[in-house]
Amino acid sequence: MSKNTNFSKECGASEEDALTFRVYANRETRLGNLEISRALPMRERRLVGPWCFLDYFGPLTFKDEKPMHVPPHPHIGLQTVSWLLEGEVRHSDSLNFQAIVKPGGVNVMTAGKGIAHAEETPTKNSGSLCGVQLWVALPDEHRNTAPDFLNVPQVPIIEKKGGVVKLFAGTLESTTAPARYFSDIIGMEVAVHARQSITLPLNTRFEHAGLLLDGDGTVEGHPLSKKNLYYLGTHRESLAIKTQAGCKVLLIGGVPFPEKILMWWNFVARTPDEIRQARSDWEAERFFGEVEGTQLQRLSAPELDRFASPNPAS
Ligand code: MN
Repeated sequence: MSKNTNFSKECGASEEDALTFRVYANRETRLGNLEISRALPMRERRLVGPWCFLDYFGPLTFKDEKPMHVPPHPHIGLQTVSWLLEGEVRHSDSLNFQAIVKPGGVNVMTAGKGIAHAEETPTKNSGSLCGVQLWVALPDEHRNTAPDFLNVPQVPIIEKKGGVVKLFAGTLESTTAPARYFSDIIGMEVAVHARQSITLPLNTRFEHAGLLLDGDGTVEGHPLSKKNLYYLGTHRESLAIKTQAGCKVLLIGGVPFPEKILMWWNFVARTPDEIRQARSDWEAERFFGEVEGTQLQRLSAPELDRFASPNPAS
């Protein structure tokens, strides 16, 4: 193995995997002072469709210290998707977008060829925080697109028998989420009412995965824990979620990503040279631009040649 491949991990496209049910333990880690349960990527499961990163944080309460404190850092080749169950996070970026995301809304940032952003708990806050951040790998034909940012204050809400779906990515039945994505994709929060079950139609071309966000639930008869990602494979026509006390489940999916990607720090690329270039541009304060509207000092990139893949700043 050359030194070039030491610093980056290949994320192979998902193989076709019909009607499987696999459980992957999340990895507990930290983002500054914030405890994170990382569900993607894992050694055995790098992607679910184009979804390549999934962090769950909270629920937590706080008084003085602010739990979300991510200084300016760069991204290439991906979209970030910020979805909250409680609290609020303030986004600011090098395009001079600034937006506070709250439960029911979503922040979608398209890094494309390059953007820098910061995320922090705003001064005026509710004292609570719970949510997820996801990344979506951009397909090769779009990964050098111009960067962009969209705050959706309220995503579509779909009332179903037994529960409510909030759709932040893709199309469910006749409803389409407003943010633009670049692959066939789905992303939603499914709330199931106490002592009810909900049945969702699935796209059989997609692979899907679920993460319990709150409460108790079973998927296709399997009890769910917040500490695991549940991979559901392809070729499913529907999914049944049941609960006793009520639950919220994150459901993501997409067509198995047909390209091999390289992830290192906050970059999604294809070759070590692209990673090296993006890192050197950030360290030289070239190309990515300044993040306005934050008091936080920019993060430095980790050393390229360290063996372990560095923790993403997300
Ligand atoms: Mn980020």
